[in-house]
Amino acid sequence: MSTHKRYFVNNLPDYGGGDVIPDKGEIKRQTVALVQTIRHKWHRHRQNCDGGLYVGLVGAAYMFYRLSKMPEFAEERDRFLEQAMEYLEPALEEASYTKGHGKKVDVVAFLLGNAGVYAVAAVIFKALGNIKESEKYVSEFKHLAATITPVNWFSRGGDEFLVGRSGYLAGALWLHSELNQDVLGESAVSAILDAMVESGQQYAHHHRSRIPLMYQYYGTEYLGAAHGLAGILHMMLSFPLWLSSRPHAKELIRKSLDALLALQTPGGNFPCAMDEIDGQRPPEDELVHWCHGAPGTVYLLAKAYMVYEDKRYLEACIKCGEITWLKGLLKKGPGICHGVAGSGYVFLTLYRLTGDAFHLHRAIQFFRFIYSSEFKQARTPDSPYSLYEGLAGTACFISDLMNPEQSSFPFFRVF
Ligand SMILES: [Zn+2]
Repeated sequence: MSTHKRYFVNNLPDYGGGDVIPDKGEIKRQTVALVQTIRHKWHRHRQNCDGGLYVGLVGAAYMFYRLSKMPEFAEERDRFLEQAMEYLEPALEEASYTKGHGKKVDVVAFLLGNAGVYAVAAVIFKALGNIKESEKYVSEFKHLAATITPVNWFSRGGDEFLVGRSGYLAGALWLHSELNQDVLGESAVSAILDAMVESGQQYAHHHRSRIPLMYQYYGTEYLGAAHGLAGILHMMLSFPLWLSSRPHAKELIRKSLDALLALQTPGGNFPCAMDEIDGQRPPEDELVHWCHGAPGTVYLLAKAYMVYEDKRYLEACIKCGEITWLKGLLKKGPGICHGVAGSGYVFLTLYRLTGDAFHLHRAIQFFRFIYSSEFKQARTPDSPYSLYEGLAGTACFISDLMNPEQSSFPFFRVF
């Protein structure tokens, strides 16, 4: 039977007490090895730019930038930034082609389109001291806000994370933190968030949804981080000024959050979409991924705990950790979207939330598993070197273990 499971059975030793200290030397060596594999295998030409930050070359540019900021890689900083540029250049060429010839959604999408490329370009040029180019790409990013502000700008679902408003706002938050500059400004951000609330209310009303804010993506009412409610609510909770000025929205968000919370299974997972609620998937077939399920919903719950200070959200987070420990050694590969590194980030998030070494231990166990002989039987993802499916994201997870207090899932900040 075990051959049909989506995950390897977890036989890893659980936390046995005491301090947990990551072996920085080992982690650094493994990170460097991943970087070398990416450098040797992932060719830097335009055909590999499709899929933006999610599976395109710009994801490697992001990874190199991220590593360049780590104190453990201080000596490699300049080289990493140069290498970031090598991956960024073809992505910028492709983005400029898309801008002239592509569909609107491919231009404004953050994870899958140009918005993400512009944000990464703005940040890397700034790190290289090229302020003029940095400002040019900040401005390219900013201009996209006007396209996504109308409530129904994209009829297939314009609120989720990969192509919609949530991803764009995550990009704006990231730019803010990296450039130390509020690139969109309060009124543009508020207009986007207001549109997200309006869009969710309209949809819920027309479809008599049991959740006051509900959304669809290509006709499916997804609930998870990538295309669904969890990613959308997470972003809404990430703008405290807007939230405090919109008590009605704050209440709707909380009600929607609680309706989602009520769908958590006894095991701790969340269904993939509303159409699974009644005819639920059998537990052995449930998806426990960042994109669908508890490993992506945990970020919303952690954020909700910080905003509303309600212990129920913390308890739900801990349950997400339990299902991830049990079913998170995914056979789909080492990536962060639906792979072992994405599961590992759940434990890093719980560690930051609680300070409990128990979770750090689990994160390190998942890191070790990636190098086990058993994991060699895992599938090779379609985009094996990419940020969300492949090794670039794995490198982000592994290197974050050196400073777990600062760890964060790419573009999905909680703290
Ligand atoms: Zn996924």
